Order: sequence, then structure tokens, then C-alpha cells
Amino acid sequence: MGSGKSTVALQIHHNLSNRQLYGLLLTTLDREGRQVTSRLGVAAPAIEVGPDVDLHALAVKYWPIHYMVCDEVQFYTPAQCDQLARVVDELDVDVYGFGLLTDFRGRLFEGTQRMLEIADEHTPLQVEARCWCGARATHNARVVNGDVVYEGATVMVGDTRAGEAPLFGDAVRYELLCRQHFLRGDLGA
Ligand SMILES: [Zn+2]
Repeated sequence: MGSGKSTVALQIHHNLSNRQLYGLLLTTLDREGRQVTSRLGVAAPAIEVGPDVDLHALAVKYWPIHYMVCDEVQFYTPAQCDQLARVVDELDVDVYGFGLLTDFRGRLFEGTQRMLEIADEHTPLQVEARCWCGARATHNARVVNGDVVYEGATVMVGDTRAGEAPLFGDAVRYELLCRQHFLRGDLGA
């Protein structure tokens, strides 16, 4: 979603693979399907996981593995996050989770909240994401038919670019804004 985190996830997976380490790349709800994609156009095969997948059982199935790189962890259930903790503690596997902090309402995603609660370390990614005003973008606004919305389903995958109209239904896209312009719903000129 324009935050550069998928790029970092791919880089970590690539670096670990090059060190003769074996691991899994997991994603969920990627618009391109079963791979992790980034704005740089780099992609790697990934296992797509839905909310019903037991991540501990998945790790056991592929074990021995050295690591798991998990993209879009904001969409995980708290139970799946706890399964990842067991992967670390019981299977001695390093787990790297990447996710967005807050949803379009400006609230912590359920999965993100649980990951922050149990992770050994967490690091904000220094990305160049900027609001149109130049301030640091801290909010991922959902824009439906040109307006910032604050209610609706937590998960809605955007599939249109600015100025594009879909064949049917609402035009949904996401835009990175600073807090001030997020709260005002101000998308700039
Ligand atoms: Zn702004």
C-alpha cells in the first residue's frame, strides 16, 4: 500500500535465501495473487494465508526451516499471531512480520495490535511516504468515489487509480495522508 514494507520483506527473504537459509514467504490479500509484490516490481513466490490457516501447523509441515517472512500481518487474527510466537519458541524459527499499523479509520489493525504485544522487537520502517502537503504520511486513508471514508469493512482491497472509474461498483483506492489532512478528509488539489 505504498509504504515500502513489501519491498523490505522481499529484501529480507532474498538476503536470507542467499545465505543458504531456507524459509517461507507468506502473504495475504495481495492484489496480484500468490506472490509478494512491491512497487519496485520485484516479486517472489509466496504462500497465501487466509484467517483459517494455522501458521504453527504450516511451519511444522515445512520444517526444518530457518525463517518465515510474513507480509500483511495486519490481517492476521490474534490466534495466528500467537501461533507465530509458538513457531519462534518451540521450533526455533525466526519470524519477521511486516504490516501496517492503522487501518483507514486510524485504529490499530487487530493483527498489528497482537504482534506489537508479543513481538521481541518492533521497528518502524523509515519510509519516504509523504502527504500531498509534504508532511510525513501517518494515515492510510480509504478513498471511495473521491471522498475519504471513516466507516466500512476493515478489509477492502483497492483496485483503481486516481481518476479511473470502475466498470461497476464504487471506485476504491488508498491514499497516504498526514494526520491533519486525514482527519479533515482533505486530499489536496
Ligand atoms: Zn497533509
